[in-house]
Amino acid sequence: MRNDALVAVASLATVVLLFNACTDSTAEPETALPSNFLWGTANSPWQAEGRNVPGGGSIASNWSLWEDMGNVPGPTNLIGCGFYDNYAADIALAAADGQNALRMGVEWARIEPQRGVFDMAVLDHYAAVIDEAKSHDMQVFLTLYHWVVPPWVADPQSGLDAFDIPMNTVLHDDFELFVRQVAIHLGSRIDYWVTFNEPFSVVSAGYLAGLHPPGKIADIDGATRYLINVLFMHARARSALIQEDTTDSDGDGFATRIGIAKSANPFDPKNPTNVHDIAGADRIDYIFNQLVPNALVHGFLDVDLDTLTTNNTTIPPEGHYPQLEGTLDYMGLNYYGPVRILGEVLPGLTIGPPLFGVPLLDVAEYDPSLPHNGLGREINADGLRRTLDIYEPYALPIYILENGTDTSDHPQRARYLVEHIEVLRDAYLDGLDIRGYFQWSLTDNFEWTEGYTSQFGLYAIDPLNPSGNRTATNGVAAYRDIILHSGTLPPTLRDLHLGVPYQSSGGASTR
Ligand code: BGC
Repeated sequence: MRNDALVAVASLATVVLLFNACTDSTAEPETALPSNFLWGTANSPWQAEGRNVPGGGSIASNWSLWEDMGNVPGPTNLIGCGFYDNYAADIALAAADGQNALRMGVEWARIEPQRGVFDMAVLDHYAAVIDEAKSHDMQVFLTLYHWVVPPWVADPQSGLDAFDIPMNTVLHDDFELFVRQVAIHLGSRIDYWVTFNEPFSVVSAGYLAGLHPPGKIADIDGATRYLINVLFMHARARSALIQEDTTDSDGDGFATRIGIAKSANPFDPKNPTNVHDIAGADRIDYIFNQLVPNALVHGFLDVDLDTLTTNNTTIPPEGHYPQLEGTLDYMGLNYYGPVRILGEVLPGLTIGPPLFGVPLLDVAEYDPSLPHNGLGREINADGLRRTLDIYEPYALPIYILENGTDTSDHPQRARYLVEHIEVLRDAYLDGLDIRGYFQWSLTDNFEWTEGYTSQFGLYAIDPLNPSGNRTATNGVAAYRDIILHSGTLPPTLRDLHLGVPYQSSGGASTR
């Protein structure tokens, strides 16, 4: 009896202690990101692997042909940063720094060099890369399209461009078939799929500015055809992934979580009192930030870019598309900085519909004294919060799938990381459903038309020997400490990493 009473008292005491512990912990404000938060880096096949085929030769793609046409100054992108061969060492480096996630991609042009001919050895290679990451307990986000396609889809030399055909169902079929093969081969390893990376970068650099393939200038119609095709290709890819990938590889109850990586940022008028700059910023914000989620979350398709979905003369007719609705399981955002919009180019000379403005991507075009990266892009961490607030109403879990800075001419990566991740953490603590952050990129790689001159890596590489030494920038220690402390650095570490001012602004901060 006596023992039972003691046990009862002890149990009561335990209950009281547990109760106090619970009430105490709820009394304590949360100050950090959760322990299951995903921390990683992102890369893309073209930029990390280049065009070389192991054993000799070169893959053909829209980008290799674009390079061959002389559109990329500097050396040819043979091996990117050498990731195709040295993936194990790079993944080990990331894991040793505390990263628990990796965003990588598979190259359509490598896997299906000719229509309907799939290279199983390449798929096996990607399986090995993913297995390597998983051996370090990393969650892998797999990108299916990061701008590079086989030449039978798009060839800037001959002018073939399957994306530039209105509602090209042949292209939709082709992409679905490719995705199906990838899912059959890799689906048991992957739960997180990224169908498309930044369609708007192709719109702006490829169809409006002529800098990327297909090299069109101010071709709004071509850009729109590209974008509409991408939306339907995403939906078709989703169906294939759900059918073929039925393995929940991490045991969280989901075999597939499917999204896109969307370039995302606020657009502001260059002159905040100029009505034309304001109109341009409003419209471009709508087109770049809202049009795609309106289609893929709510199913409403705006083809003529006028904010309405009632025009039945477009191809396809505007309206509600059930096959597009609800096709995102998460919102993947790539944030690099806010963009200013110019609506009135010269006094009285304005930009007409549908854009009503032009983006000023280079800070030199509006205020060079602001912090900026080596590509001239403004650095502004508060813009990340404004971006999150734009996408929060879509009520999906948010992953930052890219964020980073070029540090080719100034060592500002540590400060950049601290500032941006604090913004992310504060947004999470305010209740936003943010689940992961991927820094672009683990190592320097081949930055599209800038080649090796633009350096986005936490680790620097030697462009003359891209698969050689990885040299830590100040971002490595900063990111490692941020991860270790779940986004909330102790003051001494915070001061240490924040202590390097943005050289590009003479030391001014953005916050
Ligand atoms: C792209 C990456 C690129 C990065 C830095 C993003 O828009 O997805 O491929 O390297 O920006 O410019």
